[in-house]
Formats: sequence, C-alpha cells, structure tokens
Amino acid sequence: HQFIDKDLMGKTIVIANQKGGVGKTTTTINLAASLALAEKDILVIDTDPQGNLTSGLGVNRDELQKSLYDIYTSRFPIEDVIIETSVPHLHIVPSNIDLLGVEVELVQKEGREKILLNAIAKIKNNYRYIFIDCPPSLGLLTLNGLVAADSIIVPVQCEYYSLEGLGLLSRTLKLVRGSFNPTLDIEGILLTMFDSRNTLSHQVAEEVRKFFKEKVYHTLIPRNVALGEAPSHGKPAILYDARSKGAQSYLSLAKEILSR
Ligand code: ADP
Ligand code: MG
Repeated sequence: HQFIDKDLMGKTIVIANQKGGVGKTTTTINLAASLALAEKDILVIDTDPQGNLTSGLGVNRDELQKSLYDIYTSRFPIEDVIIETSVPHLHIVPSNIDLLGVEVELVQKEGREKILLNAIAKIKNNYRYIFIDCPPSLGLLTLNGLVAADSIIVPVQCEYYSLEGLGLLSRTLKLVRGSFNPTLDIEGILLTMFDSRNTLSHQVAEEVRKFFKEKVYHTLIPRNVALGEAPSHGKPAILYDARSKGAQSYLSLAKEILSR
C-alpha cells in the first residue's frame, strides 16, 4: 500500500445536513465547478429527488434517459448513467422525482445501505473528487451517501436554528461510524449565507467555531444574489457572474480544500 500515490486516487465527499435550504446543493455545484475549473476531473451525484443539482447544472430533469434511480434498481451500471455537463471536467449522475420511490422499494433489500458505495467503487479513480449532494432528511438516500463517502462537508446556515440541527447530525455520524462506515471523516464545516451586517450571523459563526474548532473552513460563504440566481440559468455562479462575491467565495473554498 505504501506505493499508492494518494493524489491519483479519487476522494468521495458527501455534502449533508438534514435541514433543507442551508446551501448543500449550492455548495455542491459551486465547489465542484471551482475544482473543475482548476482542471480536476470531478463527478457530482444528485441524491435528492427534487433534482436541484441536476437542473442547477443545466440538465433537464424531466427528460432524463437514465438517472440515479436506475443505479438503485440495478437497471443500469453507473458508467451508463454518468453524463457530461456544460462545465468542462465536470460530470454528473442526474436525478429526478423517480428517485422518491427508492426509499419504499428497497426496504426489504439486503445491503440497501451500500448500493451507492458499490456503484462508486468501479469509477472512483476516474475522478479526483466525487461529491454527493443529499436530500434534507436522514433516510436511506442520505444514509447511502454517508456510507459511500470518505468524508463529509456540513454546510451550516448562519442563523439561530442551525445549531440545534448539529446535535442530531453528530449523533447520526456516530451511528454511521459505529456500523457501516467506521472511517467516515469530517472534511469540514462550511458557514453559509453569512451576512456581515447581521449580529446573529457573527454569533452563530463564533459558536460553530467554538464547537468544531479547526474543522470549520476559514472561507465564509456570504449571502449573495448571484448564488441565488445562477441555478435558474443552469450554471454555477462562476460562469454566471464570475466576479460576484459568491463565486469568489467558492473559489477560495476550493483552494482551501486543495491546500489542506
Ligand atoms: P439545500 O440544498 O441545503 O436545500 P440550497 O443550496 O438549495 O439548499 O439553497 C437554498 C436556496 O437558497 C436556494 O434557492 C439557493 O439558490 C439559495 N442560496 C443558497 N446559498 C445562498 C447564498 N450564499 N446566498 C444567496 N442565496 C443562496
Ligand atoms: Mg438541495
């Protein structure tokens, strides 16, 4: 094993938080695009039946030939489902509302927690990073993401109720480590939708740093109009408005991750 060059091996990172609207999908799109811009081969996997990652990268979720649903139900192997996006070096496993059936259809299936892990194993080293975007719940789809990943990025919105959710997430991580994925690491905690004029934003940021210490990224993602608008144009912010503070913040996050 000592001869393996870690830089040539893919790393799988899950973006998870059971709360909705905290910036999971925005982070997946913009971090992935920033790394792809640095000519790293990147794969993103949309595991939310809402398909926001899919549409946010300009793929029509209502006209998919194949999707993540086909991987969960063993209809097609992952290499048949992966498609290119308009961003060079950035590929996607798309999803749409079909995926909603999976939680029910697979209740009885043996090894249902490891379907994504097994699918990724075959293509893992074709990519420098694989990012898994999760739905806002702790069901089977999120569990598959946590089991498949080497590490987790947790986006935390800079508002009061965010802190409550972190306890639940810590317990879930403990459970996953104790059962299916003992080596799941915290890649980083990302403070999102930061508003520098808002005292509460500063207080939440301070609390999160107190608790998670050096695990919290130096990069703060500001609340920014371009980040909110870009998905409706099917583009990452870096291609919609490269000079926006939002696009620039995800570029610095990418640099921070590459230098860690
Ligand atoms: P999640 O995937 O966790 O549900 P999203 O990434 O979809 O959250 O973000 C929720 C909404 O907030 C989306 O409409 C998104 O465009 C918007 N949004 C996310 N991050 C920001 C930000 N930093 N500034 C402004 N709007 C944002
Ligand atoms: Mg989302």
